[in-house]
Amino acid sequence: MEAQTEDLNPAHVARLQYDTALPFLGGFKESPGMAEWLFQPERVTKVTLPVRMDDGRVEVFHGYRVLHSSVRGPGKGGIRFFPEVDEDEVIALATWMTWKCALVDIPFGGAKGGVKCDTRLLSRREKAAITRRFTTELGENIGPHTDIPAPDMYTDAQTMAWIYDTYTMLHPGENTTPIVTGKPIDLGGSPGRETATARGGFFVARRLLELEVIPDMTTLEDATVAIQGFGNAGVNAAHFFSGAGATVIAVSDRGGGILAPEGLNVAEVAHHKRDTGSVVDFPGVKTLEPGELLETQCDILVPAAVENEITLENADRIDAHMVLELANGPTTPGADRILFEKGITVVPDILANAGGVVVSYFEWTQNLQNRQWNEHEVDERLEEKIVRATDAVVTKRAALSGSLDRHQEEWAELEPDAPPLLEPDYRTAAYVVAVGRVANTLNDRGIFP
Ligand code: NAD
Repeated sequence: MEAQTEDLNPAHVARLQYDTALPFLGGFKESPGMAEWLFQPERVTKVTLPVRMDDGRVEVFHGYRVLHSSVRGPGKGGIRFFPEVDEDEVIALATWMTWKCALVDIPFGGAKGGVKCDTRLLSRREKAAITRRFTTELGENIGPHTDIPAPDMYTDAQTMAWIYDTYTMLHPGENTTPIVTGKPIDLGGSPGRETATARGGFFVARRLLELEVIPDMTTLEDATVAIQGFGNAGVNAAHFFSGAGATVIAVSDRGGGILAPEGLNVAEVAHHKRDTGSVVDFPGVKTLEPGELLETQCDILVPAAVENEITLENADRIDAHMVLELANGPTTPGADRILFEKGITVVPDILANAGGVVVSYFEWTQNLQNRQWNEHEVDERLEEKIVRATDAVVTKRAALSGSLDRHQEEWAELEPDAPPLLEPDYRTAAYVVAVGRVANTLNDRGIFP
């Protein structure tokens, strides 16, 4: 039998997710042009960056910044430094930011940026040079009230400090602190930003268990957790889950994976990674082959690395109760359906990893007011936002399931040749909440319908 193939272009994946939600969105059904406009990015900026390397050569890097939507506020989204960065990936990531910000109800649109480079091959000086050149080339495409970057893969508080410093030199006399979030604390960063993505994901998981909507799972106590990616999102998730009584049994990074069925000492593994650059060769554990981590039997599987990790190829072998997407786009639409049919709950990225942008919003707010909240204040407000968004998604999914027949009838009238609508999963419910909010904003502004 021929293996099924699927389109792994992240921009196409983002489109498919959007199209799956559209039949459930009242006003859009009659206004395909507006639905089309809302999906298209508002602005795609491509820059080439000549950078002098440590050996004296000049190397050219390619950078992207996409403003997907400014309907609900200035663009917001991270910048990643990664070899696989390309225009379509950045477009998809910016699109997901629009829906994410709307879902957690913060006054931002969506944006994202990236530079195609391998930070493993760069010195600190070279990284700073790329960052400063990128900031300069982006010019007025970023700004505290237009498009506000943050960290993502292989960028961190130091990278944000270089962006801030460069931007500030170009804009003397202005309060430029809100140009980026995820800054070091003494440059106006917010307490709690570093751990916010994982903390938000942890709050979502805890809330779903409280609501008793995860089949065959009610508590974090003694739950087993496997985490792919041991960077900012992954390592902090490991700390939060083990702190709540769960057992982290497997983790992985670009170098490979490790498994200890009785549980890993998270602090020691994190130490080992800091010392050696990878989790592999941690003493006394089993080494995992590439891809094996995702198929580890566990209660909560946390993809916290890159896109397209759970696909048609391996979805059937996923053996978890919950997939908590701390990464952006780790599950393909084909895999989504297989997991749904297996009774595995996929907590979609736009909800699961929204904690980072929520605290980025808090940082931006503090910067505009020249104030600093304490960590307790930040965490409390984060939990409130995350719980509200989680509840909205759970309620929406129940409502959509209950009205599937009506949506089916209305959709069949508009699109007689379309295949029947499928029972909506949490991703579709999250999209319906998020896209609906953006559409309502357009409506309030008199642009839609
Ligand atoms: P990071 O650079 O801190 O860490 C990335 C980790 O992923 C590293 O441990 C790396 O070794 C690992 N990795 C990369 N490719 C891998 C692979 N093929 N298999 C296993 N591990 C692999 O990045 P991060 O900030 O933790 O981001 C991770 C994911 O979380 C990304 O998808 C990012 O978009 C998403 N995310 C991050 C934030 C944030 O605030 N940092 C917010 C929302 C979403």
